[in-house]
Amino acid sequence: MQAFLSQRVVTAGAIRPAAILVEGEQIRSVVPPSQVPAGVEAQDFGEAAILPGLVDSHVHINDPGRADWEGFETATRAAAAGGYTMLVDMPLNCVPATTSVAGLEQKRAAAHGRCRVDWAAWGGVVHDNQHEIVPLAAAGVRGFKCFLVPSGVDSFTMVTEQQLKAALPYVVQTGLPLLVHAELPAPLDQANEALQQADWRDYKTYLQSRPDEAELSAIRLLLSLCRQYKFRLHLVHLSTSRALSDLSAARSQALPVTVETCPHYLHLASEAIEHGATINKCAPPIRNRQNREQLWQAMKDGTIDLIATDHSPCPPEMKRPDEGSFKTAWGGIASLSLALPLIWTEASLRGFSLLDIARWMAEGPARLAGCHDRKGRVAAGYDADFVILDPESEFLVNRKRLHYRHPVSPYLGEKLRGVVKATYVRGKLVFADDDFPGIPRGREVPGRLVNPS
Ligand SMILES: [Zn+2]
Repeated sequence: MQAFLSQRVVTAGAIRPAAILVEGEQIRSVVPPSQVPAGVEAQDFGEAAILPGLVDSHVHINDPGRADWEGFETATRAAAAGGYTMLVDMPLNCVPATTSVAGLEQKRAAAHGRCRVDWAAWGGVVHDNQHEIVPLAAAGVRGFKCFLVPSGVDSFTMVTEQQLKAALPYVVQTGLPLLVHAELPAPLDQANEALQQADWRDYKTYLQSRPDEAELSAIRLLLSLCRQYKFRLHLVHLSTSRALSDLSAARSQALPVTVETCPHYLHLASEAIEHGATINKCAPPIRNRQNREQLWQAMKDGTIDLIATDHSPCPPEMKRPDEGSFKTAWGGIASLSLALPLIWTEASLRGFSLLDIARWMAEGPARLAGCHDRKGRVAAGYDADFVILDPESEFLVNRKRLHYRHPVSPYLGEKLRGVVKATYVRGKLVFADDDFPGIPRGREVPGRLVNPS
């Protein structure tokens, strides 16, 4: 048995002095510090907080097939350094895409023995794979992802409203959530038409090319389908605050809808993005400060459930740093190693506590991925996954702190609050002092529908 002590353990809806007793890979109990049994190996973290290991429900690991973009080794290393103990991998950008059981098996082979933290897979819903949905669920994916606009890679097709309707009965049959990239093509096409001659080095052009209207109309369509089909709808990377009133109305009608946003939408603002700074390109786009503050308000009132990174790296040249064109640069921001301090920096300024962080970044994503019975909380019977955070210390972001494959980031040079001192996965130290001790022990946490054969 081991004991992890701190004056600030985030557990059972409170932050209090406690000792976490760990037996093997699981938490046996959480007790007052004075009740650590004699002879138990104890580590006292003093004033540093112990939070549940974070769960990131939106990561593009890109492996197999595009491990030169990221990969299981580097993504899970960055995760460990960022306080994450479980990642749920998006079904696209890898080759093959996770749109069939065969694709899932190739992913498992690629992950084997290479992960520093635990992981699970989302399956893909594309234009023609309706008959793979139930088998993918049976094989252990934790839910599905689809796009209502082109995804950026040809191998992962978008779905039209008709194709989505063809897929939904199968999704409903699995009982798993459907995660949707909510933008519609028509408002995007219309906006782009008017911008043919525009200056694409100017971030304003990019912002105009992905108007709020594209997100808002997609979300309204999805809410009406959710009402009709009663599937578990999850909106990934909400950017526009203009959808918040529709979303909060949907919740008050008890529709099964959940919402995520990302560190870049909660930290960056369009006004500050310089000409040609394509490192900030993502879709939907980073909008203005006022929009950002409204997203923070939605974190407070609960309209947004959780924060996921949408960690989506690419080789640096694909960001077209020389050309600086927001039209041709790859969209995606990598933040696995920084998301916790990014969010804590912003959240602590606005009066939130580490309890909110645990809810948004551990419990909420674990619930979405259906593993909230063993991940996302510091409680008896849960996996002994922890992040040790010094919430008061600050640091400067430099390349050495990124730990993912390509050390590029819009956050370089920023001063952030909250230092990850150590990360434990199922009782074992996986990150401390800029080092990754031990062999990669991370493993898949497959869904419960797994076919025992
Ligand atoms: Zn994504």
